[in-house]
This record gives sequence, structure tokens and C-alpha cells, in this order.
Amino acid sequence: MNSIDIQKEFFLSGATLDVEYRIRQLRSLYNIIQIYQDQICQALHQDLGKSRQEAYTTEVGIVLSQISHTLSNIRRWAKPRRVSTTMMQFRGRGTVIPEPYGVCLILSPWNYPFQLSISPAVAAIAAGNCVILKPSELAPATAELLSQIFNQNFEQRFCRVITGGVEVAKSLLMQKFDYIFFTGGTKVGQQVLEQAAKNMVPVTLELGGKSPCIVDDTAVIPIAARRIIWGKTLNSGQTCVAPDYLFVHQKVYRQLIEAMKGCIHEFFGEHPQQCPQYPKIINQRHYDRICSLMEGCNILYGGEKDPEQLKIAPTLIGEPSPKHPIMEEEIFGPLLPVMPYERLEEVIDFIRQRPTPLALYLFTRDSRVENKVMSALRFGGGCINDTVLHLAGENLPFGGVGESGMGAYHGKTGFDTFSHEKSLLKSSSILDLGLRYPPYDTTPRKERVIRWICSRKH
Ligand code: NAD
Repeated sequence: MNSIDIQKEFFLSGATLDVEYRIRQLRSLYNIIQIYQDQICQALHQDLGKSRQEAYTTEVGIVLSQISHTLSNIRRWAKPRRVSTTMMQFRGRGTVIPEPYGVCLILSPWNYPFQLSISPAVAAIAAGNCVILKPSELAPATAELLSQIFNQNFEQRFCRVITGGVEVAKSLLMQKFDYIFFTGGTKVGQQVLEQAAKNMVPVTLELGGKSPCIVDDTAVIPIAARRIIWGKTLNSGQTCVAPDYLFVHQKVYRQLIEAMKGCIHEFFGEHPQQCPQYPKIINQRHYDRICSLMEGCNILYGGEKDPEQLKIAPTLIGEPSPKHPIMEEEIFGPLLPVMPYERLEEVIDFIRQRPTPLALYLFTRDSRVENKVMSALRFGGGCINDTVLHLAGENLPFGGVGESGMGAYHGKTGFDTFSHEKSLLKSSSILDLGLRYPPYDTTPRKERVIRWICSRKH
């Protein structure tokens, strides 16, 4: 039997339907992560040059807090919910039962290779599913460690990590899973969706794209600068929700540029590409891709590179043409194009004409501007007067819309994503209203009664 058949058999045994079983698995995952935390940070350093602090705050810590939150709430989330019924269902009892799908496939990317593998797995386990996880081959040290964490500590009929590249992912997708959770690029996401459609498998797609940031003339510039540079330089810009490009009101354009230069210097020193805490680009291909995006650009600050260590300094790019590749593809690196604007409508039009972003950031103190942008633009999620932090909480669902993805997770939303809500009406056999049965020879009075019954709740 292959892995999926073994897991299907285990799932059908009903073991994972027991919430206490799930709690034991999550507790043990929590403990194992704590034991392995040094090794996890080392693997993240090996794959991406992440400092210990960045590895802990953006990967290990987030996952531990997610597991704690899940453990505190899982019994409540998993409970069947009574719902009200209508007069048509008189004396019946309506219940919604969250049920696991079965065996879930999780495909994860390389940029937060630990967190983006474990986080969906925690939600899937909490909802009572079995999990097959395929981490990204581009972060091999973390993939190997994930394989150790799961394959040596959990029963493979319940949770299993399968390492490998694109071919392994493709062959997994050919099989009939009960749910697929994919995090990665939009083009690959499309292929995943096509393959899932062939097997009629429900899918969540957590994709990427270009996330805009807007700074208007009422924003507190020093704070905007710090938060934008922080969000852009986290993991050297290799963050799906990093601000991709920046529109700044012309009145504060110069001021913001100067403030951002100051922040880069303050965070990483004179030569950021030599700063040991500053992460590297994942591999030569992505390093070359990001370097080529700089070609023909007006570099306002930064631009230094270290080809040996695959590091690129945070770089501010002035007013690129909208037709330049840097404005057409997701940058996924530490380059920040900055464009001045005069009227907010120009910015709204620009964003509307492009694929729906995963995130949007607005810095303003003007509530009219806030309302206008929020009502005019569609995007997955975002922040007002901050960047990236919206994904750090358990109560804000995280996911894209349109080209940036479908479905969401984090906290209860993650539990719901991996659960099917089974609706059940338990009718009473004591009373059986004859009105619903044929023949439908209604008198006006009977019709009035039927209309009244149909329009009322229990
Ligand atoms: P990717 O799409 O290349 O790879 C993601 C996963 O899919 C990997 O496990 C990979 O092995 C597998 N894969 C690659 N090609 C495949 C194919 N043809 N068929 C089936 N599986 C395939 O993405 P990536 O380069 O690892 O990650 C970068 C992208 O992910 C960026 O676009 C980024 O914005 C996005 N991302 C999104 C989120 C989010 O939460 N929305 C988070 C991180 C990254």
C-alpha cells in the first residue's frame, strides 16, 4: 500500500475523530518543536541565512503560539453546534457537525519553510485529518528536519513528510486526496487547481503577487519608514506579504525616501549585504532574477550585492516605468520601487488594473482616505499604518482573493478550512404535519397557513 492508502485506512478507523487523540498529537508536536528549536533555527540559517531572532519570531514562535491557541480552543471548535430551525422543520433539531475531510496533502514553499509547513498541518490535525506534507526542495535543510520531526515522532499512517522536488509534488497531485492545501506561486497554484479539479478535490490556494503600499501626506513619516523597511527587509524581501512597491504622496516623497534610507542604515549598518543578521537570497537562480530586475532602474539607495553569499542590500528604486519588469512581476526580494502620486484616484486606478493583491498597506491619519481605499480596493488582507503584522494573529483569517489565492487559515479559520460542516436535521416522529404532502389542493385559507409556516422560524 502507498502512503495515502495507509492513511485512508487509518482515517477510516475513526481514530482521528476523537478530539482527545488530536490534542495528544498537537501536544506532542509542541514538545518536539521545543526540543528541536535550536536545530530548526540552524536549518533556517543554513537555507536562508536567517538570524536566530528572525527565525524564532517569524517561524518557530508563530507556530508554537498557534499550537497553544489551538489547544486552548479545539474542544469548542470541534463541538457540534445546535442551530435554529424553521416552522417547516417543526419539532426538528438542527445540528452542524464539523468533520475532517480525510487525508490532506500540504505543499509548502521555501521562504518560511518551517512555519508554512507546520501551520497548515496544525490546522489539519486539529480538524481531525491525516496529513501528507511535501516541503519545498529549495530549503533542503529545513525539509530534512521536517522529515525527521514527523517521520521519527509520529505514526506514518497519521502524519508523514515526503521530501522531493516538482516531480514528487506532481505525482502526489495525481492521487486522490480528500483536501489539498497549497502555498506557493500563482502559476503553480493554477496547475495544482487544474489537477485537483480532475479528481474533484477541494483546494486552498495561498498564493503571492504584488502587494502595494500607499503613504499619504498625513502619515507619520518616521513610523511609516521604519515599518515599511522592516516589512520589506524581513527575510530579505522573500515574504509573500512584503510591500512590493510604494506609492507616496508627492508632498512627503523626499521626506519618506530620506527616512527610509536612515532606517536601512540603522537596521543593517553601512553595508547591509555584509550584515550577518541580514538573510540571503535562497539560491543563485533567484539571486540572478532579482539582480536582473534592477537593470535599467534608477537606484536611489542600496544596490550593493555579494554574489558569494547571495546577498542583495535593501534597495530603493525611483519611479520605474509601469512597463518595467520590476513593476510587472512579483519582486520577492529586497528591492522597493517608489513612485510619487498627486491624486489618490491615480493610485486606486493603477492597483485596480492589476491582479488582486495578497496584501495592501496604507499609511494615513485621514479617515476619509482610509475609507476610500478600503472600499475601492479588493485584496486578501493588510494593515493601516503598519506592514505584514496582520498575519501574526490567530483572529485575523489569512488568505488571498482572485489571483492571490482562495480560502484562508489561521486560528479558527484554519480549523474550519480543514473541516466539512455536515448539516443534520433530526425530525420528530411524534407530529407529522399533513400540509407538506400532496395532493396540493389548497384553499385560500390553507395557502395562507402554508405561507405563514414557510416564512417563520421555529
Ligand atoms: P512554488 O510554487 O514554486 O513551490 C511551492 C511548492 O509547490 C513546493 O513544494 C514545490 O515543490 C511545489 N511545486 C513546484 N512546482 C510544482 C508543479 N509544477 N506542480 C506541483 N507542485 C509544484 O513556490 P515557491 O517558489 O516555493 O514560493 C514562492 C511563491 O510562494 C511566491 O509567489 C510567494 O508569494 C508565494 N507564497 C505565498 C504565501 C502565502 O501564504 N500566500 C506564503 C509564502 C509564499
